[in-house]
Amino acid sequence: MISIYAFPVVVQVNGNYLKLQAGYLFPEIARRVNTFLEVNQNVELIRLGIGDVTEPLPLACRTAMKSAIDEMGTESGFHGYGPEQGYTWLREVIAKNDFQSRGCDISPEEIFVSDGSKCDSSNILDILGEGNRIAVTDPVYPVYVDSNVMSGRTGHAGDLGRYQGLSYLPITAENNFVVDLPDQPVDLIYLCFPNNPTGAVASKSQLKCWVDYALEHKALILFDAAYEAFIQDPELPHSIYEIDGARECAIEFRSFSKNAGFTGTRCAFTVVPKVLKGNAIDGDEVDLWSLWNRRQSTKFNGVSYIVQRGAEAVYSLEGKAQTTSLVEFYMKNAAIIRNKLSAIGLDVFGGEHAPYVWIKTPNDIDSWGFFDLLLNCAHVVGTPGSGFGASGEGYFRLSAFNSRSNVESAMKRITQFS
Ligand SMILES: *Cc1c(COP(=O)(O)O)cnc(C)c1O
Repeated sequence: MISIYAFPVVVQVNGNYLKLQAGYLFPEIARRVNTFLEVNQNVELIRLGIGDVTEPLPLACRTAMKSAIDEMGTESGFHGYGPEQGYTWLREVIAKNDFQSRGCDISPEEIFVSDGSKCDSSNILDILGEGNRIAVTDPVYPVYVDSNVMSGRTGHAGDLGRYQGLSYLPITAENNFVVDLPDQPVDLIYLCFPNNPTGAVASKSQLKCWVDYALEHKALILFDAAYEAFIQDPELPHSIYEIDGARECAIEFRSFSKNAGFTGTRCAFTVVPKVLKGNAIDGDEVDLWSLWNRRQSTKFNGVSYIVQRGAEAVYSLEGKAQTTSLVEFYMKNAAIIRNKLSAIGLDVFGGEHAPYVWIKTPNDIDSWGFFDLLLNCAHVVGTPGSGFGASGEGYFRLSAFNSRSNVESAMKRITQFS
């Protein structure tokens, strides 16, 4: 057939994706591990690098999902499409247990159930304008940065791999892992506490500084509380809505991935208070709740009924006990890592209210140098801090998500060679 077009039609790609730096961190870890294993075939490596849980799903969740499956096999209990926002019974237990019980004024309608906070924290950009000035911490959960790059909200990456147009706020030992307010005004601020990767936490007064800043500058805080269940100190806030005024300036992301082992089951939620406002380009106030509701209704068809029943069971008496003991298990791992590494003179941070221990590399070795050292001498795989941002250079992340015996052997190996 003869084309009627003078030129072949060429599909254009989203050029913003081409600005992304090659997914450097995890492929590079895999490359170095494989090279090592080619030469050392019978060495058993212990991997403390992954941000994925390892313990089995709580019984309460499994039982609830099994009976939901059986229900689905009956005429009266069958469920087709559910509400895009999540079933009311789940939104109600979430609002009550995670928010109202802590004095946070959050209603079930303000909770949007989803299949993950990785997606939510990137999808949220759909309802936000392109002119916003954006701040992220450094080091940072890479999803926040890359989703801004993909949606065209940054320039190219420059020195240190930092993208033009983003403000990077360092969190390091120098500032005690307290994120300082930006010196140039910003409109959107991503905060994650307890923090991945540093394990740092934010006190009520520190969060209050951010809420005050956001209210004063009419900015929006995107608060990722995926690790709130790991908080041990009752004085620390679990939700940004524990701070007065946060309803007017913050969206919160929560997930069942880490507290209930749902990384492979997939359920999370996002809180969008009804009073939150943004501006249209003509200056008119628009409420963000309606936009997010519209976005989810159009682009999302909800989480499976079965999985939502599993998430609901997290709030049952058994579910609470079982998720608490999961968290305790990982926190005991974190304590073992902290204690053993401090005892050999390493500076360790985090790991007290988060499943990540953040280690200052000794003798100014860089992050990748320390990675190679641990791999070759201790046969332990961790994550180089520089992979999370320029300010992560000189640090190293070990994850407490592993079996007790792996954590103990890894610590034995590290302390023996040191
Ligand atoms: C693990 C994690 C999440 C959870 O993501 P899901 O998509 O819900 O599994 C969110 N934020 C951070 C920073 C995380 O490390």
